Amino acid sequence: MTCWFCTKASRGSCAFCGRGVCEDHARFGPFVLDVHRSEARSRTEALVVEDALQCGTCKPRPQPVPMPELD
Ligand SMILES: [Zn+2]
Ligand SMILES: [Zn+2]
Repeated sequence: MTCWFCTKASRGSCAFCGRGVCEDHARFGPFVLDVHRSEARSRTEALVVEDALQCGTCKPRPQPVPMPELD
């Protein structure tokens, strides 16, 4: 795979959109791996990777988007 932004070989792919990114174009930021409900503490918790690979171009929404048609 090559980088989405240039012609170099990609070092990885964006955690959110899957675009390939080389070391020049890689950005790092938090990525929510999983969200689960903790019954013991009766609150919702998220498992977050602090420095996941990102392309820096896509804009993940901070909140999940409701999809009532799939309910
Ligand atoms: Zn690049
Ligand atoms: Zn991306």
